[in-house]
Amino acid sequence: MEIRDLNLWYDETHALKGVNFDLYRSEILAFIGPSGCGKSTALKCLNRMHDDTRGVRIEGTIVMDDSDIYSARIDPPLHRRRFGWVAQKPNPFPSSIWENVAYGPRIHGLVRSRAEMKTHVEDCLRRAHLWDEVKDDLHKKNGTDLSGGQQQRLCIARALSTQPDVLLMDEPTGSIDPVATAKIEELLLSLRRDHSIVVVTHSMMEARRIADRVAYFHLGELLELGPTERLFTAAQNEKARAFILGKFG
Ligand code: ADP
Repeated sequence: MEIRDLNLWYDETHALKGVNFDLYRSEILAFIGPSGCGKSTALKCLNRMHDDTRGVRIEGTIVMDDSDIYSARIDPPLHRRRFGWVAQKPNPFPSSIWENVAYGPRIHGLVRSRAEMKTHVEDCLRRAHLWDEVKDDLHKKNGTDLSGGQQQRLCIARALSTQPDVLLMDEPTGSIDPVATAKIEELLLSLRRDHSIVVVTHSMMEARRIADRVAYFHLGELLELGPTERLFTAAQNEKARAFILGKFG
């Protein structure tokens, strides 16, 4: 994806100011920076999540596989299906573990038979590193009965179930404990092979552990973007350097 000169206003609030970046295949790109600086707002532009929010105005271009995603030729629901979304707070459906994963493929007609669905659900749960923990409870337990970390991995399995190209994650480890966080981080590294992943994180250590590249947001501007180690050891931008050193934010 190529994001060029992206500006976004919430009514009078200018929340994104001339943001530019590319997203490559099979990479983890982390958005870091102080709260309220536009990280989530930028993430939601990629899958057109702002379409239904009143008062939002967007300028600039976002190109995905040579098409402008805001052009009239793009069907927004089809565009959104190319993305999986994972929120900070795990939000499984209040239905069985099976149903959490089977729902999306069923309504989008992605599988043709019960046998194919069985294979698909197992595959998604395996890829989310959850299968061994839930394989005997697929129909017995609800998604909401699982632990916080398991719920988040179930939400990742659900996101994978519609075969997205890109995973968008808004602080996916922000509300779970350190052991569960380590599992999610390991999982993200294994998913990178088949997906591009954009992850908003408050944890600079997390960004350093998992990201290939890091983007630093500051008051709506993307001030610096670069390979993770370079950003953490030799950021060019003074504010990015100060933030990384923990001087504010
Ligand atoms: P971050 O993810 O870096 O914490 P956000 O993208 O959530 O930042 O917010 C960027 C700015 O946009 C903030 O000033 C925030 O208050 C504002 N904002 C975010 N969402 C909305 C909204 N739905 N309506 C109005 N203002 C919003």
